[in-house]
Amino acid sequence: MARHDKVAIIGSGPAAHTAAVYLSRAELKPVLYEGMLANGIAAGGQLTTTTDVENYPGFPKGIMGPELMDAMREQSIRFGTEIITETVAKLDLSSRPFKYWLEFAEDEAPRTADTIILATGASAKRLHLPGEDKYWQAGISACAVCDGAVPIFRNKPLAVIGGGDSAAEEALYLTKYGSKVYVLVRKDKLRASQIMANRLLKHPKVEVMFSTEATETKGDDKLLKSLTIKNTITGKESELQVNGLFYAIGHEPATSLVKEQLKVDEDGYVVTVPGTTETTIKGVFAAGDVQDKKYRQAITSAGSGCMAALECERLLADEEADETPIMVEVKKESNGVAPEYKSNPLV
Ligand code: FAD
Ligand code: NAP
Repeated sequence: MARHDKVAIIGSGPAAHTAAVYLSRAELKPVLYEGMLANGIAAGGQLTTTTDVENYPGFPKGIMGPELMDAMREQSIRFGTEIITETVAKLDLSSRPFKYWLEFAEDEAPRTADTIILATGASAKRLHLPGEDKYWQAGISACAVCDGAVPIFRNKPLAVIGGGDSAAEEALYLTKYGSKVYVLVRKDKLRASQIMANRLLKHPKVEVMFSTEATETKGDDKLLKSLTIKNTITGKESELQVNGLFYAIGHEPATSLVKEQLKVDEDGYVVTVPGTTETTIKGVFAAGDVQDKKYRQAITSAGSGCMAALECERLLADEEADETPIMVEVKKESNGVAPEYKSNPLV
């Protein structure tokens, strides 16, 4: 018999683990699928790709991202969460209990769950410039922390594209290895938080180039050697000699499992009822970066993971009290909305 659970959590960042801690303490025995390099990110999520996390409360001296995620995982297990190191490849949200299939086991009988917490996060965007495929991982990367220390970047000029906190953090990290770090910002201002922007602007190895975008990547047979850059105001093009290019231009929500079945916004983020983690399908909750394009922080992800767990627990308790049968057909409508879910203002 295929496995059935009251709650299946998909994801392994702060949102997923916070939901797991709350649900397992509520004795709902959640199962958590942490993914096997799902969406190109290791189990533990985006913080596994960074070094110091200085703004997560409780760690006055900061904590390394991977260490924080290991601790969250341990806390989930401590209260009885079952963690499965597999990627969920397919979800069917058309009726409850919801059905899902794991990667490499899509021909097996589906597993089922009464509720789903979607905490699949987000991943780094790329620009897909001419030459990018040739020099990807041969000078071009989207993770300075993962790749910055390799010999091809040592004492060489490097470039980061982006003007947010990730760009600031990546550029500052790269100053440890590169001879100089150019930060290419398409607008005339940074989007990064004040503290990060200040650190960036005053670093002697960093040159922030405002109103600048890259249009092409160039190199020899093997490695990146330069970029063609363009001033967005004057239109003037020039060559920038760099041996490394790091993208830090934001993220794409990991919604491929659900975007045809529930409501997502114009950028692909899952739409939730404001102030809650309820999606347009009753029993499906979304937490963390997959539904948050505004804050995208570890602490806000953890906060929404807590909300998802409490909302999920309440729904299950109400249904148990009402003895509402869990078999509810969701009418096939374009946005997959369950018409009987009247309390949800998105419906
Ligand atoms: P994520 O961390 O995005 O993790 C989601 C996980 O789900 C991933 O491991 C993914 O593989 C997995 N997954 C996806 N699809 C599936 C599937 N189908 N099946 C199973 N698993 C799946 N925030 C801060 O507050 N402070 C910081 O200092 C900070 N530094 C950052 C540095 C960098 C370089 C980056 C990129 C982000 C940083 N952030 C920071 C932002 C923070 O990492 C995110 O806001 C947070 O990790 C989002 O958490 P999440 O729970 O939504 O999921
Ligand atoms: P972000 O805040 O969305 O910034 C993305 C940057 O990339 C912006 O400057 C944007 O320019 C630029 N950009 C986007 N598309 C581009 C394109 N096609 N060409 C050139 N530039 C492009 O993303 P982020 O920096 O990854 O941060 C995401 C979240 O994680 C934020 O909430 C951030 O605070 C958080 N975070 C926090 C820390 C920390 O606190 N230490 C570290 C990293 C990340 P425009 O401004 O012109 O749109």
